[in-house]
This record gives sequence, C-alpha cells and structure tokens, in this order.
Amino acid sequence: MSDDGLYSALVQRGMTRRSFLKFSSAMAAALALPLSYAPRIAQAVESAPRLPVIWIRAQTCGGNTEAFLRAGDPTVSSMFLETLAVEYHESFLAASGASAEQLRTTAMERYPNGYVAVIEGAIPGMAGTCLVGGRPVDEVVREVADGALAVIAVGSCAFDGGIAAAANAQTSSGGVRALVGDTKLIMLPGCPLNVVNLTSVIVHYLTQREWPATDLVGRPLSAYGDLVHNQCERRPHFEFGEFALAWGDEGAQRGWCLYKLGCKGPEVMANCPTVRYGEGASWNVRAGHGCVGCVMPDFWDAMGPAYKRLPSPVPFMPALTVDTAGVLMVGGIGAVAGAHAVGMGVRFKRRARIARREAALAAAGAGDTAGVAATEPVTTGPVAGEPVAASAAASEPTTDQPAGTPAQDGER
Ligand code: SF4
Ligand code: SF4
Repeated sequence: MSDDGLYSALVQRGMTRRSFLKFSSAMAAALALPLSYAPRIAQAVESAPRLPVIWIRAQTCGGNTEAFLRAGDPTVSSMFLETLAVEYHESFLAASGASAEQLRTTAMERYPNGYVAVIEGAIPGMAGTCLVGGRPVDEVVREVADGALAVIAVGSCAFDGGIAAAANAQTSSGGVRALVGDTKLIMLPGCPLNVVNLTSVIVHYLTQREWPATDLVGRPLSAYGDLVHNQCERRPHFEFGEFALAWGDEGAQRGWCLYKLGCKGPEVMANCPTVRYGEGASWNVRAGHGCVGCVMPDFWDAMGPAYKRLPSPVPFMPALTVDTAGVLMVGGIGAVAGAHAVGMGVRFKRRARIARREAALAAAGAGDTAGVAATEPVTTGPVAGEPVAASAAASEPTTDQPAGTPAQDGER
C-alpha cells in the first residue's frame, strides 16, 4: 500500500481540483458545518496522511461492506475509498485462512495506535457461532480494538446486535460496546450505514485531530442530531394534514406525508433526508416508503411494525404509548397543581395573620392594648418587617455588658 498522502493519492486517481473542492463542501455539509469551513477541510485533507483501516466482519449479512463497495460518487464516497488505506478487509483479500490473518497482524504491528478499527456485524454470545481465522470473533475484535485510534461500529448489528439480537433470535448476540467500552467507540447505525457518514467522521478526525461529538448512545451529533421528520421534504404536507392513507392512493401519488402508513420519521434521529443515498440521489421517503427507524436502538423490535404508526410520542422511548404518556402527564400536572395549591394556602394564611397583627398593633397605638392581648396571642416567631415588640425591648440589656457575662457584686 502506498504511503502517499490523501491528496496525491486522489490526484493520481484522476480527481480534479474542482471535484476535490466540491467534496470538501459536501463534507462540511455532512458535518453540519457552515460552508465557510470547506477551505479548511480541503487544506487539512491535502496535508493529511492516509489513515489505515482494519475492517472486521462479525455476524453480518455484509450490507455495510456492500454500501462501502457500491459507493460510486466520484466527489464523495470514492474519495473515501481511494484515500483510506484499507489494510485488512477479508472481503477484499486474495489471501484466506492463516495468510489473511497474517496480513491483519502485520497491519496492526505496522501502525501501533495509528489505525482505525471498523467493526461490521453483531457479536454472538453463542460459542462457535462466528469464527475469524478459526478464532471467536469477539477475541479478534478485542485484539484489534486494543491498538486502534478509534473503533467505528458500522451498521445496526454492530450498534446493538441488530436483527441478530431481535426477539427470538438464537445466538444471544449484541453490539460491540460490551467488548470495546465507550472511550473510543463511534456508532454509525443504519441498515446499512450511510458511507457519507463514515467518510465525514474520518474527515472530522483529519481536520480537527479529534473524533466528532456523539450523543448518549455514541452516534455523531453531526449525522444523528436531528429528527428525520424535521428535514423531510414531505413535512409541509404533515403540517397541512395531507396524508397518504393507502399505498398508491392519490395522496401517495402527490407525495403527501407517509405518517399514517407507518413512517417513523418523527421519532428517528438521522440525516438521511439531507445526505441521502445512492450518490445523494434519493432516500426512502423521497422514493415513497416511510422511514422504519433503522438507526434507532433495538429497532427491529422497538420500531415495528413497519407499516403501523408508532404510538410513542417521545423519541428514544418507543415503548412509551400515548395512553401511558397521557396518564403520566395528567399525574404530573395534578402533583404540580396540588403542590402549588398547598403553597398558596400557606401564603394566604401568613398574609392574613400579618394583616391581623398590623391591625392589632394599629389599635394598640390608639391605646386599646387590652384588645391586642385578647385578639392576638403571640405564638410564633417574629415576621420579617414587623416592629420589635415592647416586651422584647424591655428584656434587652441596657449596658455594653456582653451577653452571658456574670453580674459583679454590687451591681445586683
Ligand atoms: S413522511 Fe415521515 S418524516 Fe416525512 S413528514 Fe411525514 S412523518 Fe415526517
Ligand atoms: S430514513 Fe429511516 S429507515 Fe431510511 S435509512 Fe434513514 S433512518 Fe433508516
């Protein structure tokens, strides 16, 4: 593998300067940065070395590798393909078995702490389910992750087990987090992932020398920071109440909102409407199918059925139904109202007491002291702002003698 920098590798591949600058603009958009960042991205990528990648396939259909291989946009995805040094990916190797494993260990030794580990597929819990070079894949993933700059989990299976961890699955599978921990793990779920997001994560590292900020489940905020619904071109129809009610009906033909046909866009965080698939040509809602929420945790079970509206009104809480949310809200509002009522009762009582005492003191000023004693026995401490009672003033020491000083003989 050549050690030329990224830019020279691209130029050797025939990429024009114009395409390169377009790529930089596309990356700025994918990273949710202003376009003014594009020249900085171009400059950083120009001077960057190739970033070696070791790609491990665990329990997977290979869809993410397919997405990687089929990336055809010369200005974006080919850039990724041509400039990253993919040191090991079993699907790309002519070698197999022990020779392929030797290539992996050689690559790890050549770039100690200097490669990116990409993990595709779920990690099975059932012994003997998925072997790489005759060894359990979890051992191999741990070994590769140990020496990596970062571990990027691509696709929904690497994210949390995907279909291999869905209800009634047989292999006790899960995502890579249990093996790798959170410190250097970046999640790019999707079924499959969008290669543009993988590219933009790498470009972020090359540009900033750090990995992008992520949400609570490890997904970069630049790619998974906004609802699909907020970015969808059918959103105006949602606002106007224009819904397709059956596949192929007039609403569907007119491009109306697919919410009532099961679109999960209002509950899904992803940039699919802006980055799109197929060289930016389209995405599923544009093509006429609702979002099924493939980037969400536990999506096979939590986001289904695909053609039914989700009852949950809260993103990340797909199990929460509208009914439960309503009960919780009514209960919460009742509790707040009750607390408010108690607080107001105490306040009114206190105000009434102050008013009575002020009236009594005014009466006392007019010489009606007997009335004061009769109507207002003092049972609590002083109220802020009240005048000091005459009896209290009378008990105050009249000299500078400090409180507690014993009285001297002859002073009694
Ligand atoms: S089609 Fe889906 S994502 Fe688009 S506006 Fe309707 S509900 Fe939202
Ligand atoms: S629009 Fe929804 S189903 Fe389609 S790729 Fe994006 S998150 Fe997955």
